[in-house]
Amino acid sequence: MEMDEQVELNLRERTLIDLFSAFEGAYGPSFECKYYPCHFSGQDCTFCYCPFYPCLNYDMGGEIKLTSEGKFVWSCQDCWLIHDKKFAEDVILALSRFPRQRLVEEDWFFFNSILQELIYGEVVVKPEEGNYNLMEAVLAEKECEECEDRDTEILAVRLDNFSIGSVRRITNLEEAENEVLIPLKEKNRYYGFMDGAYVVCRGSLRLI
Ligand code: SF4
Repeated sequence: MEMDEQVELNLRERTLIDLFSAFEGAYGPSFECKYYPCHFSGQDCTFCYCPFYPCLNYDMGGEIKLTSEGKFVWSCQDCWLIHDKKFAEDVILALSRFPRQRLVEEDWFFFNSILQELIYGEVVVKPEEGNYNLMEAVLAEKECEECEDRDTEILAVRLDNFSIGSVRRITNLEEAENEVLIPLKEKNRYYGFMDGAYVVCRGSLRLI
């Protein structure tokens, strides 16, 4: 075995290698893969690793889970998006316009902005004083009403490069410290702040 092959790649490195090979063209289903179909029969396997991971956006079907080791992870189990052929082609189109070196160096915010462009048609959220209020994107266009009968809790997620460093519940936006703010999700209800009010929202996922 060559020396290079012995180096263990981290998830982000594997994701970038996967992305660059996707630039060679959409791939289709991968029937020979031992995990096929990991999401649905007939799925597109151009991307094995989602370049937007962890997107922290419930609109795609993912959610935060706590592992048996007590580690917070973003679970993509219920997101089929990256295995949709049309979406995979859109991702290739959107990301292949950037030099590869830039894609290697760009941070999570860059990739999250590209994802927002793809699913909402525009970048809805921008970092503000180190924080990133994803609630603005996730709660928009859902049916929301003011919620006064419970604590005003939301989730503040600290990212360590492209992995989740910590997750904590906070009760107002001012408590955030360089974190990504997302609604608290309970089944199909989303609790968060919109226009200064604490709201509970219901609505379908914005899968393409
Ligand atoms: S939920 Fe979907 S879009 Fe988000 S990181 Fe997972 S696979 Fe990618």
